[in-house]
Amino acid sequence: MSNEFEVSRRGFLVGMAGVAGTALAVGAAAPALGAQAKGGVQYTPGQALKWLKQGNRRWVNGNIKQKDHTPPNSDISKGQWPFASILSCADSRVNVERVFDVQQANLFNVRNAGNIGSDGISIGSLEYSVAVLKVALLVVLGHSNCGAVSASQNTLRTGEYPGGDIDDVVNAILPAIEGLPKDQTLPEGTWANAQYSARALKKSTIIRDAIDSGTLRVKYATYDIKSRRVTFA
Ligand SMILES: [Zn+2]
Repeated sequence: MSNEFEVSRRGFLVGMAGVAGTALAVGAAAPALGAQAKGGVQYTPGQALKWLKQGNRRWVNGNIKQKDHTPPNSDISKGQWPFASILSCADSRVNVERVFDVQQANLFNVRNAGNIGSDGISIGSLEYSVAVLKVALLVVLGHSNCGAVSASQNTLRTGEYPGGDIDDVVNAILPAIEGLPKDQTLPEGTWANAQYSARALKKSTIIRDAIDSGTLRVKYATYDIKSRRVTFA
């Protein structure tokens, strides 16, 4: 969120091209980064959102198909073609390939306790997926019974911290929920936290530029572990 994490598009792309070039040189042929990353396929934000919603409906109904939306005959040992990036919680019950019923290489994942989107590593990881992999959709996914949000609400109420570096997690979530009433519920805190992360991500120049050009949409949502249903804001 702060300027220290702002990276110029040019500097970022040059840097990432260098990293990718090194990795490709170790493997097989090294095609141009952009062409290799996109595979000639341009996903749209609307298409990506539709695939996520359809996949979650299958997961809810138990009609599991593990759909593969990568381009036909794509070789995932040579590249990746995720159509969306998901910033979700590290919670062991939130596995996004299952939640959205897709195969590997379909979703670019960033996970941390509390689906925090205001730290440099998370922002940078997602910027990579936008600038280099050209994902069309970025979703912040909160979930029911989130321990990270619950711990932060407890700190807000009592002033007591959990201890260790868990305090960093709590401190990152507090700004998202401190504007809510003191008797806020856990679902209310979870929604506010997901929205806060989505807003934080939109402060990235790379992400904002992609939104402005119409190639990317940023959404936030919550996942109910019991019903398996994802609700988009
Ligand atoms: Zn959680």
